[in-house]
Amino acid sequence: MFDTLSDRLSGIFTKLRGKGRLTDADVDATAREIRLALLEADVALPVVKAFIHAVKTRARGAEVSQALNPAQQIIKIVHDELVGVLGGEARRLQFAKHPPTVIMLAGLQGAGKTTFAGKLAGLLKGQGHQPLLVACDLQRPNAVNQLQVVGERVGVEVYAPQPGSGVGDPVQVARDSVAHATRAARDIVIVDTAGRLGIDGEMMAQAAAIRDAVEPDETLFVIDAMVGQDAVATAEAFRDGVGITGVVLSKLDGDARGGAALSVRHVTGQPIMYASTGEKLTDVDVFHPERMASRILG
Ligand code: GDP
Repeated sequence: MFDTLSDRLSGIFTKLRGKGRLTDADVDATAREIRLALLEADVALPVVKAFIHAVKTRARGAEVSQALNPAQQIIKIVHDELVGVLGGEARRLQFAKHPPTVIMLAGLQGAGKTTFAGKLAGLLKGQGHQPLLVACDLQRPNAVNQLQVVGERVGVEVYAPQPGSGVGDPVQVARDSVAHATRAARDIVIVDTAGRLGIDGEMMAQAAAIRDAVEPDETLFVIDAMVGQDAVATAEAFRDGVGITGVVLSKLDGDARGGAALSVRHVTGQPIMYASTGEKLTDVDVFHPERMASRILG
């Protein structure tokens, strides 16, 4: 991810090397090139506009440092703005005062929710928690089974309706799972919900009903970082339809252009909390804006 953007930016910075000082014309030309590089990386237009405005203002401003040459100054400004676009500080999970902490996952089908549910359960178990995974995707025939496989791999119990029990209501499953967690002394409940291939009113209504039933402490929106410009509409729909408290970027190991990763914080107003970086259940990291910005700048 971000290889093209990294290459483009480093090409732009190279052109500034050897310049004694930057004229306004240099700043404008550089800003134009950065703008193009971001747009080509599929970063959403409002994000690009805000980014370029900040870069120009700071580069023209008086913050001329003796220690940095013009190229280094621009790199520093772009780095700082990238960190800002990615959310500034990393944010940790908010735990409930009275357990269990309920974490609901929402997102489109194929975004990586079920995989991330397993990854998060594994992470939290490794920190000494006793998580419970809950299968509320009763739409896709194989979804419950997929979560059970994932749960088995990380050694975490999966709460799901018994086959043939007649319980086909995901809201009921979600509600019952919290009661079960309390009885079984699980301190974290991770609720995997059903997605669709596109934005769908019924899916949103179901996710909202599950949310109302379990009152999650965190509602994490899982988005495939490879989706490009569609990310904005999807993120807005989940922000408005379900309400989200954090974002999980999945498939950051892919070779797409990465615009979703750079747009979703701005669009949702919520922090990116985790990065999912592969198909293995250990391929997950707490998201650090600073590290990601440094990686993009190479
Ligand atoms: P869900 O429909 O949102 O629950 O999505 P899944 O968890 O079933 O993931 C959809 C597909 O993406 C599966 O084939 C996963 O193995 C794959 N996947 C999930 N997360 C990642 C990731 O971080 N990197 C890669 N390369 N593949 C992933």
